[in-house]
Amino acid sequence: MSLSLKWSVQRITTKFEFKIARSAESYYDVVILELSEGEFTGFGEAAPSKRYEKGPEAILELLSANKNQILEISVEDAEYRQEQLEHMFPQSYSLQAALDTAFWDLYGQRQGKPLWKIFGATQNLVTSSYTIGISDLSVIPAKIKEAIDYPILKIKLGTDYDHDIMRAIRAETDKVLRVDVNEGWKTLDDAKRGAEWLAEENVEFLEQPMPSNQLDDIAQLREFSPLPLVADENSVRPQDIPGLVGAYDGINIKLMKCGGLTNAKEMVDLAHKHEFDIMLGCMVETSIGISAMSQLGSYARWLDLDGNVLLAKDPYRGVGNQAGEICLLDKPGLGIEIT
Ligand SMILES: [Mg+2]
Repeated sequence: MSLSLKWSVQRITTKFEFKIARSAESYYDVVILELSEGEFTGFGEAAPSKRYEKGPEAILELLSANKNQILEISVEDAEYRQEQLEHMFPQSYSLQAALDTAFWDLYGQRQGKPLWKIFGATQNLVTSSYTIGISDLSVIPAKIKEAIDYPILKIKLGTDYDHDIMRAIRAETDKVLRVDVNEGWKTLDDAKRGAEWLAEENVEFLEQPMPSNQLDDIAQLREFSPLPLVADENSVRPQDIPGLVGAYDGINIKLMKCGGLTNAKEMVDLAHKHEFDIMLGCMVETSIGISAMSQLGSYARWLDLDGNVLLAKDPYRGVGNQAGEICLLDKPGLGIEIT
């Protein structure tokens, strides 16, 4: 039976403006794919990050120009498919991810099995964190209230008022916090002071404290830091991982950076080989992207899969997220429904 492919752009709006050290947005345009074969439809999502690639218009152009070739891609052979995708779309990781996800979803439906089973994973997932983006201090109490059901918060820092942010958060809650600096601390001295300070604030780890091109500084910081360091902007694709030994304790894997589930699973295997702790993360995404990444969830020590619950309205239903508890479905493929 032959394949057909449809795509659409969906504007997804966040409950609060989503601000990190380098950007601030209150909505995102994502590209949704529907890859159909008879009664089955595989879903995929591209949520391009400006840090790594061009926006959704570029993805639409690539889809239009390559539609026939896409429909010839292998449903069965994921490794060969990844090679094909990287060759066709070398600059667009989120499009690779969307296509790889749609093909995996279709494959799972053909097999009549959920993807987590196909990947050798289990349904035992740790609790996901909920992200508190950067904001004016006056908004922080409302954000902490919005997150009241979530036991673990991930705080975005990397501003010139980090201490004020932490003070405002700690005035509201004594929950476990994880801190993501998004490359925001530029000198080793600042980063050392930050790590020492946050270790006193019941913080579990420090994510990407310094710019990715300052890996030597980060390795020096790790010698000193009382908190574990987790790579995000430094941990983009599988080939990045061996070079992070000595600089980090863990790596954050995201579909939109690495190009899909095939590469994400390779990164999981490489992380095991090099003894890194694994975090699975996301961009602001719908339940399609989140459900896809969750399939590998049991491999992770930390989950940060909250992109869909940051949305005012999610156009899809998948794994769900009740107070940080993500529930993998026992349905073929990803089990996505349109809401
Ligand atoms: Mg991060």
